Amino acid sequence: MNPQVEIYDTTLRDGSQGEGINFSVADKLRIAERLDAFGVHYIEGGWPGSNPKDIEFFQQVRRKKFKNAKLAAFGSTRRKNVAVEKDEQVLLLIAAETPVVTIYGKSWMLHVTEVLTTTPEENLAMIADTVRFLKENGKIVVYDAEHAFDGYKDNPEYAMSTWLAAEKAGADIVVLCDTNGGTLPNEISTIVQATKAKLKTRVGIHTHNDSGLGVANALAAVEAGATQVQGTINGYGERTGNCNLTTVIPNLAFKLKLSSVPERSISNLKELAQFVDEIANIVHDPRQPWVGGAAFAHKGGTHVNAVQKVIHSYEHVNPELVGNTRRILISDLAGRSNIVMKARELGFELGNDTPELKTILARVKDLEHSGYEFEAAEGSLALLIQKAFKHEAAPFKVDAYHVSMRRDGTNSACEATVKVRVGEKRAHTVADGDGPVNALDAALRTSLIKFFPNLEKIQLTDYKVRILDTATGTAAKTRVLLQSSDGKDEWATVGVSENIVEASLQALVDSMEYALLKNAATS
Ligand SMILES: [Zn+2]
Repeated sequence: MNPQVEIYDTTLRDGSQGEGINFSVADKLRIAERLDAFGVHYIEGGWPGSNPKDIEFFQQVRRKKFKNAKLAAFGSTRRKNVAVEKDEQVLLLIAAETPVVTIYGKSWMLHVTEVLTTTPEENLAMIADTVRFLKENGKIVVYDAEHAFDGYKDNPEYAMSTWLAAEKAGADIVVLCDTNGGTLPNEISTIVQATKAKLKTRVGIHTHNDSGLGVANALAAVEAGATQVQGTINGYGERTGNCNLTTVIPNLAFKLKLSSVPERSISNLKELAQFVDEIANIVHDPRQPWVGGAAFAHKGGTHVNAVQKVIHSYEHVNPELVGNTRRILISDLAGRSNIVMKARELGFELGNDTPELKTILARVKDLEHSGYEFEAAEGSLALLIQKAFKHEAAPFKVDAYHVSMRRDGTNSACEATVKVRVGEKRAHTVADGDGPVNALDAALRTSLIKFFPNLEKIQLTDYKVRILDTATGTAAKTRVLLQSSDGKDEWATVGVSENIVEASLQALVDSMEYALLKNAATS
C-alpha cells in the first residue's frame, strides 16, 4: 500500500550543512543504511556537483542494496545560457547513478533578476530544460522550488509559472520550499492549496525552522494536500535547522493518523535519533519532542503505583510508541528489546526470561552509567552479549603498554610498546605513529597479526572523541568511538576512561576481538 505521506530525508545533504556537523563518507553510508532499514522513502545522499566527498559517497553506495528507500542525488537547474547536456553539474547528477534526482530552481523574481542576473524567460527555460533532460535519462525527478513561499507572496503568477514549467517538462513532484524559514502556517496552507488547484503533479513540502515553525509548517502543508515531507533527523540543518523528521513522523502517525513510514518502525524512532546524534558527534538534546531523554520524564517522589495513575494525565501519548521510556518508572523494556534483537542477530536465542538477559542488562546499565554508549557501538555490545553466554577467555590479553611522545624542534613523534599474551605465548612490539593512538594501534596490530593473520585486513575508518561532562568534580571522562572495517563489513566499538589513550585502547581491543568473533562465526 502506498503511504499517504512520503518521507524524504535530507540529513546527509541539507542536514550536513548545519553548524558543527561533518559527516565522513563512512558516516554517510552508515546513516543511509539505518534510514533505509527504518523505512524512509527517499534518502538524499548529497550534491555531487558541490564536493568530491559526495561523488565518492555515490560511488560507494552503489555496492549497497536498499530495501525501502530510493536514493536521490541533489543539484541545481542548468546554468544560464548553457546547453543542459553541456552543463557539468547536471552531468554529475546523471553520473551519480541514482534512481532519483532532485534539482532546485528559482521561484522568486528577486532571485532571478538580482542573484542569477538573468531574465524571467531564461529561468523558465533553465527549469524546463533540466527537468526534461533528467527525465530523458530515466530519472524520477523531484523539483525543489526554492523560496517558493517568498516568491509566491512577491509575484504569484511568476512563481506558479516556474512550477508549471517543471510540471510540463515532466517533474514527478513539485516541492515547495520555505528556504528562509520565515513563513507562517496559515500562509503555507493557503499557498499549498492554491498550488494544488493549478498543478496536476503531486506537491511536497520542504521547510526550515528559522521561526521555530519548521514542523508546524510541514504539517500545515500536509493538511492542505502536500504528500511528501522533506526534512532531517533531529532537525539538523543550516542556521536553526530543517524540519525535524523525528517530530514530523510521530505527528503524522499519531495526531493526523496518516500513514508514512512503516508502523512497526516508529517504535525505533528514538533509537534512530540517538544513532544519528552519535554518528554526528552531537550531544543528544534531552528536550527534543517525542525522542528526547526528558520527553517523558516526570519529577515526583510519591509511591510508584500512585504516580503511575497520575502520569497518564501528564502525557500526550504513550512513550513506547516512539521507543522512548517514562523515566519515573524504573523500566528497562526498551533496552531489553534492543538486546534481545542484537542477541538474535548474533545467533543466540534469548527470551524475556533467559537468565543471561538479566546479567547482560545489569552490565549494560552499569557501563552506561559510567559513560559508555552502546547505541552506535554494536561491536562492543556484541562482545558483551557473547561473554555473558560463553564464559570463554578472551582470545588475547594486553598485559602492558607504554606510550611516549617527544618533540625535536618542529618534528614530533610518538612511540608505543604493547605486551600481548595469547594463551601461553607472548609478544612484545614497538611501533611509531603520528599520535599516541595511532602508535598504539600500530603496535597492537603488529603483535596480533603474528597470531591472527586475518587481522591484517582490518582498518580503522573513523575515530571520534567525546568529553563527557561530569557533575562529580572528578576528572572529566573521555568516550572514544572507533569504527573499523574489513573491507566488507563495518563495526564500531567504544571505550571510556579518564585517560584518552586508555579509552582508545579499550575500543581498539574490542575492535580486534570483534573481528575475531566475526571470523569464527563465518569460517
Ligand atoms: Zn533546505
